[in-house]
Amino acid sequence: MKLGAAGAGGAGLSALGFDLAQAFQVKQSLHISGATQSHSLCPYCAVGCALITYTQGGKIVQIEGDPDSPVNEGRLCPKGASAMQIATSARRVEDVLYRAPGATQWQKVSWDDALNKIAQRVKDSRDRTFVTVDANGNTVNRCEGIAFAGGAAFSTEEGYFAAKVMRALGLVHLEQQARV
Ligand code: SF4
Repeated sequence: MKLGAAGAGGAGLSALGFDLAQAFQVKQSLHISGATQSHSLCPYCAVGCALITYTQGGKIVQIEGDPDSPVNEGRLCPKGASAMQIATSARRVEDVLYRAPGATQWQKVSWDDALNKIAQRVKDSRDRTFVTVDANGNTVNRCEGIAFAGGAAFSTEEGYFAAKVMRALGLVHLEQQARV
């Protein structure tokens, strides 16, 4: 593939009389000139490709693959390459939205309201589905009515913490996006 790309680049150079790759590099360097670099991870999947985010005046001006990452060596798949839209898309939902059972409209709620609702429902489901003794008379003390799926953007510590909290609630159905 590298040989093919080199060949294509060479063809562009001779046909147009200048090096397109160099021109593109100059454009890129101007675009991010003076921007602050922050290192992050693509949140989409468990591959965990590293990103560099460039910001200027508090606004993101560019997100690209981190060439120093041993995982992706600067590359991103199409999803990762569109990561900037997560932050800058005009269609981004910036409020917590709730649609009540049977309702047709979403309503804005506060984070406190949303977290209280989630906590109440976790408790209700756990109380309703907690099993202390199985069919064979063994003490099991487990919650069979809730499943938990961890996200690929979890850090090691977040993953450890989430697993501990879920085990403490008695959950046995734990999964991770890495295996989906
Ligand atoms: S860039 Fe693609 S492969 Fe890499 S973590 Fe994101 S979604 Fe996964």
